[in-house]
Amino acid sequence: MAKHEFQTEVGQLLKLMTHSLYSNKEIFIRELVSNASDAIDKLEYLKLTDEKLKDFVTTPQVNIKLDEQDKSLTIMDNGIGMSEADLISSLGTIAKSGTKSFLENMSGDAKKDSKLIGQFGVGFYSVFMVADKVDVISKKAGETQAYKWSSDGEGSYELAPCVKEENGTIIYIKLKDDEIGDYTSKYKIKEIVKKYSNHIAYPIFLNFQEEVENEETKEKTLESKKEQINEATALWTNSKSSLKEEDYNQFYKTIGHDSENPMLYIHTKAEGVSEYTTLFYIPSKAPMDMYRADFTPGVKLYVKRVFITDSEKELLPTYLRFVRGIIDSEDLPLNVSRELLQENKVMANIKQSSIKKILSEIKKLSKDEEKYKDFIKEYNRALKEGVYQDYVNKDAIMELLRYKSTNDSEKMTSFNEYKERAESSQNAIFYIIGSDEKVVRNSPLLESYKKNNIEVLILDDKEIDEIVTPSIGKFQDWELKDITVCEPPKTEQSEEAKKEVEEKFASIVEKIKTTLGDLVKDVRTTDRLSDSPSCVVKDSSDPMASMAHMFRMMGQEMPESAPILEINPDHEIVQKLNQSSDENMIENISHLLLDLAKISEGMDIKDPIIFTKRLSTVMSKAL
Ligand code: ADP
Repeated sequence: MAKHEFQTEVGQLLKLMTHSLYSNKEIFIRELVSNASDAIDKLEYLKLTDEKLKDFVTTPQVNIKLDEQDKSLTIMDNGIGMSEADLISSLGTIAKSGTKSFLENMSGDAKKDSKLIGQFGVGFYSVFMVADKVDVISKKAGETQAYKWSSDGEGSYELAPCVKEENGTIIYIKLKDDEIGDYTSKYKIKEIVKKYSNHIAYPIFLNFQEEVENEETKEKTLESKKEQINEATALWTNSKSSLKEEDYNQFYKTIGHDSENPMLYIHTKAEGVSEYTTLFYIPSKAPMDMYRADFTPGVKLYVKRVFITDSEKELLPTYLRFVRGIIDSEDLPLNVSRELLQENKVMANIKQSSIKKILSEIKKLSKDEEKYKDFIKEYNRALKEGVYQDYVNKDAIMELLRYKSTNDSEKMTSFNEYKERAESSQNAIFYIIGSDEKVVRNSPLLESYKKNNIEVLILDDKEIDEIVTPSIGKFQDWELKDITVCEPPKTEQSEEAKKEVEEKFASIVEKIKTTLGDLVKDVRTTDRLSDSPSCVVKDSSDPMASMAHMFRMMGQEMPESAPILEINPDHEIVQKLNQSSDENMIENISHLLLDLAKISEGMDIKDPIIFTKRLSTVMSKAL
């Protein structure tokens, strides 16, 4: 018998499981039954597609056995089973990225962490909430040797060959003393299975002993009983009218490994050219691993109720990777190559219709302001990805996006609402991007828009907005314009008056330009400012700007090109500077005008030490 240490993260998870205040212990049954059902799914698929397992005969079922005297509960399946290597990798390490990242980010606050743990799939290890010791006896279909895995959940497990006739897995759970009553009661187990696993596609049998009285002798004996305790129909095959919201929610918890109800469910049966059923869920909280490249896909593919795959990331486009659920097709061949799924016409059709359906249901949800707020909080960012990933549905996705805006500091707005509010002369949507809402809201660049009563969208999810927004181009017939690039709104000032100002400040502009050298692309006077002395803008004709955008879309960093410095001729500082002949002062102020403008846009300044020095010099002069 060989002793193995658990991977560090498993140790952490187990500690949390066994010592936490986790209130909903009964879900371990849901998790184990769901694993059993997945294991049967996998074998059923191989029986139909794998030459070696073609003649394999099994009657798929899950058995739960209660033994009060032995203080144990056993869950058995005749599914695919696990080899020695499977046992080591599946029950000794954590493969799931969501769980891993959760553990990496654990706060160490047991109360808080144990609350969080319900938000993602806790899987097999949840059994240690109720178990003193667990034996997993498993034989992989097609192999001859079975193995036994045992652990008390305290840092290590033992693994040894053993004897088992049938393929599949037995999970023998020695219950903790204070859990015995609940989990050896057939009523309790029936209730839990009905609640969470009623619509697992395979029958679940409860095996227990019951006292029976002989009618003649009145002698009491224990008799073994076996009773089916679930409906065993794949939930999605039922008609919508026969299902209640509660049924949908419970099924979601089983397949989504979530403890909360979903935000939305969408059950569709398509008939006609292509026949299929889909059942999609939007979780109330975004999956933990949504922003990891190795996220776990949430949609399972079935063909005529036979499970095909749950590891295909593109059954839906990646921007909808938060969706959980199933797709069950009547037309795909059972042996559809998983590699070629993407090119399959039937699949492509299901995918396109599913996207349209999901987007239209989200649109319906958007009519409910409160609910939609929650949706946006979790998924706005994912939808933004859709704008540049999904050209076909771009318009529909754009209608779903919400942005902060200068119109209202509390409420987010849609492009449509923005358009409705705009004055009739306006025909563009203005926006500004930054990483800090507060900084962006105070940007000097907004001054002229405020003055002209023009709403500007505040895009403070810089990482994604910077990539997505420039590629939007237009919303309906309105162009989207970045106010750090585009011309400011027209003022009443005549061309002549403008020329006059330019001439008046020409020499100081030249001086600033010479002083700042490569730090700026250009220096010019502007009428876009009212309160601030200066601002920085990007050059719209700069080819580097669109290059930088392309680079960012490919995930590469690009150095920012030098900005244009604009100065406000109506501002006292600029006016006084124009009169000054103190070369030292002009140099210091020129740099300060640039640095202050950059700071107000949340940009880094080149050299904070020199900046402070210049500021001190100017301050002491001013006194
Ligand atoms: P999840 O089921 O979400 O992947 P678990 O921790 O519950 O996470 O299980 C880990 C892995 O162990 C499963 O993915 C599966 O490969 C394997 N496994 C668990 N239970 C069984 C079972 N009854 N039969 C076969 N494999 C199983």
